[in-house]
Amino acid sequence: MTEAILRIRNLRTYFFTRRGIVKAVDGIDFDLRKSECLCLVGESGCGKTVTALSILNLVDSPPGRVVSGEIYYDSLNLLKCPPDQIRRIRGKEIAMVFQDAQSALNPVFTIGDQIAEQVKLRPEVNQREAKEQVINLLKEVGMPIPEKMIGYYPHQLSGGMRQRAMIAMSLSGDPQILIADEPTTAVDVTVKGQILDIFSQLKSTRQMSLLFITHELGIVSEIGDRIMVMYGGKIVETATVSELLNNPKHPYTISLIKCLPDITQVMGRLESIPGTVPSLINPPSGCLFHPRCDKAMAVCSKEEPPPFIVAEGRTVFCHLYSRPER
Ligand code: SF4
Repeated sequence: MTEAILRIRNLRTYFFTRRGIVKAVDGIDFDLRKSECLCLVGESGCGKTVTALSILNLVDSPPGRVVSGEIYYDSLNLLKCPPDQIRRIRGKEIAMVFQDAQSALNPVFTIGDQIAEQVKLRPEVNQREAKEQVINLLKEVGMPIPEKMIGYYPHQLSGGMRQRAMIAMSLSGDPQILIADEPTTAVDVTVKGQILDIFSQLKSTRQMSLLFITHELGIVSEIGDRIMVMYGGKIVETATVSELLNNPKHPYTISLIKCLPDITQVMGRLESIPGTVPSLINPPSGCLFHPRCDKAMAVCSKEEPPPFIVAEGRTVFCHLYSRPER
């Protein structure tokens, strides 16, 4: 097992609204290991993006705030760093690819200028070298005719090309960690495969650690080493990709897998998870999934399930696994 480059401990990020306190991320722990792709999976609104924003100190405050926890990048607790230090780490050490490249890119600058911004921060790089590096970054992400594309503005590019430009921009500081937040959601299905290929390639050529956020469980087998499943601001199951897809343990994970289109085709019927996602202002007592769980027991509505280690590297937050016969 490789060493962790990012360690998250008991992270809680809340939003203080007029309607009440939204517990968007509520006590999560995980490690991102060197050179691995860790996928964070769950339905919209379960806290995946807020987790990413918390790591980079980008949570809108007010109304949001990290109320407790530790985020260690190597030995540095990012939550204790002064703002200028976090700004230096952001982009250079830990970079993020946003879901919507259209709004993440600045419409009044060419993509070449935007990618060059981080490259030019290095004093040893002159104008000509910066241009060369930008072209190389665009080549790395499979942009066609990059020498020409550097002069294009974001609105002149297709959705897939904008996403490639966004990925190139995130690589411009040569980061150790890349956080990709739903990078395939805003592109069509043919481009989706190409974007996933870019991330797979980057992981092997750059040996970087990747935190890949998605609501599509179906795509993680193409890119991930391990998966964490998130529900209602909490992590409910962690496993390797093959273990989780072939032998899911948590009832919520089992339900998500039943909803995968290719599996339902084989089974001949379309499943959906009954009920609705939990309120993060007034969540159910005990296990957050108990109102929707067909395996719920009396204890489930009373006590929050602790983590149960069901095999090496496999953790499940479910009372079913407290019983020795399981
Ligand atoms: Fe279902 Fe209980 Fe497990 Fe929650 S703890 S997932 S309600 S069996």
